[in-house]
Amino acid sequence: MSHPTDANCIFCKIVAGQIPSFKLLEDDKTIAFMDINPVNPGHSLSVARGHWPMVDTIPADVLGAVAATAQKVAKAVMSELKPNGVNLLQANGPGAGQSVPHLHIHIMPRQPNDGVALNWEYKPGDKAEIEAIYKRLKAVL
Ligand code: AMP
Ligand code: ZN
Repeated sequence: MSHPTDANCIFCKIVAGQIPSFKLLEDDKTIAFMDINPVNPGHSLSVARGHWPMVDTIPADVLGAVAATAQKVAKAVMSELKPNGVNLLQANGPGAGQSVPHLHIHIMPRQPNDGVALNWEYKPGDKAEIEAIYKRLKAVL
């Protein structure tokens, strides 16, 4: 099966075996490996084999395969490492904290007060504003 690739992309190099990784799983559409900058022990990544930068361009079946691989890894992390919680996190664009523009899902084990800045307090939104945005999105779905 052929996939889009980008010769300058670090994850394409991992997919191609040009640079090493601690590979956990691989199938025809995905690979999973350990993150080299773990926020907590067991932090790992489920990555599309093909080079699709973000969620807007990746084919839905490939995104589904990346999610299925993330689920397998998450199950192993949960049963073997027993973290207090796990976030599956997928960032798109620099404002979302994406540093590698090759689609991936983080399997991120969590502990209380681990300092990972992903959780937020509830702050009720303005109903009219929510509805206005809702109408714009509904119109393009
Ligand atoms: P993001 O910021 O969501 O794009 O996540 C990119 C992740 O890739 C970060 O958590 C990095 O630690 C991780 N990463 C970057 N280079 C490598 C590498 N060579 N092997 C494993 N993980 C990597
Ligand atoms: Zn790539």
